[in-house]
Amino acid sequence: MRAVVTGGAGFLGSHLCERLLARGDEVIALDNFVTGDPKNVAHLRDDPHFELRQVDVTADVRVEGDVDLILHFASPASPVDYLQLPIETLEVGSIGTMHALSLAREKGARFVLASTSEVYGDPQVHPQPESYWGHVNPVGPRGVYDEAKRFGEAMTLAHRNTHGISTGIVRIFNTFGPRMRPNDGRAIPNFIRQSLVGDPVTVAGDGSQTRSICFVDDLVAGILALADSDHPGPVNIGNPHEISMRDLAAWIIELVGSSSTIEYIPRPVDDPTVRQPDTTLARQLLGWRPEVDIETALRCTIDWFRSQSQMSHFPQPP
Ligand code: NAD
Ligand code: UDP
Repeated sequence: MRAVVTGGAGFLGSHLCERLLARGDEVIALDNFVTGDPKNVAHLRDDPHFELRQVDVTADVRVEGDVDLILHFASPASPVDYLQLPIETLEVGSIGTMHALSLAREKGARFVLASTSEVYGDPQVHPQPESYWGHVNPVGPRGVYDEAKRFGEAMTLAHRNTHGISTGIVRIFNTFGPRMRPNDGRAIPNFIRQSLVGDPVTVAGDGSQTRSICFVDDLVAGILALADSDHPGPVNIGNPHEISMRDLAAWIIELVGSSSTIEYIPRPVDDPTVRQPDTTLARQLLGWRPEVDIETALRCTIDWFRSQSQMSHFPQPP
């Protein structure tokens, strides 16, 4: 199979490229490096079946030759990133998605859209099944991301219905693992980095808000199961392991063996209060369920961050 991964130099994109190559596929990664980094795929550079191209998918998406699969993952994903890049986020979710869908149409390729649990906004239904329409503030700060993804879902379905493209939509819940940027602003990288350097660990609000956290290897297995099927989705992929941010911070401090204390900081506007995937559909349609124990996954991620802390871009301990 010949696959195109947009956002291939990002956190999830790099793991997808790695897994596709490992099973014998050819991979072309397209990325403009706005939040990703070529070093995330540097270890794949010598693989003759891999190519990384610097491309802004809002400008154009052209690939010569046959393409069997397009995984459209290009988009800022951390709230800090998309709040800094509001227009770019809307553009990549709309124009970028249209370009990637046009490539799928031209090549007769299957197309998978990386959507998000954020399409449920600050949910009033818990856990969230795919049938829930969500509770999104379109004019709040997170609207730029949430609405870009909701538009991307609608655009994907319109292409499926109008042009007969094989499409799949995956709604990804909070995922963590090696290759997250230590400074990307998301809770897990922040908590690990702060614990490693002995800084206060910043918990927003009173920390009672919850997320359900999934290890990247499990997520990638779920995405490829959807890609290999002909299901349209949307399908939730995430680990139902729900935890409050206060408990997560304390757990990471303990796993790192850090002397960091917790510092309570203001809660972002429209920050969802609870989030947990209902994964019944993923189990029924794809036979997928998360398998990696969260403590093992956190330890693995902490080890990776520790290895990065030897490098100059990571803040050094005092
Ligand atoms: P990331 O920021 O590490 O990766 C995104 C990649 O897209 C980066 O390499 C970035 O440079 C690239 N990109 C952004 N705009 C681009 C453009 N116009 N042209 C080309 N490349 C562009 O984020 P991630 O966590 O790997 O997220 C990847 C995808 O998964 C995103 O679409 C995100 O919305 C979705 N997602 C992620 C999570 C999660 O927990 N990580 C949860 C829900 C959804
Ligand atoms: N959060 C926190 N401290 C931080 C960064 C984030 O307590 O340093 C909180 C954030 O307010 C949210 C939760 O952790 O309630 C998850 O945030 P993240 O940015 O990881 O993901 P998202 O909000 O997109 O689910």
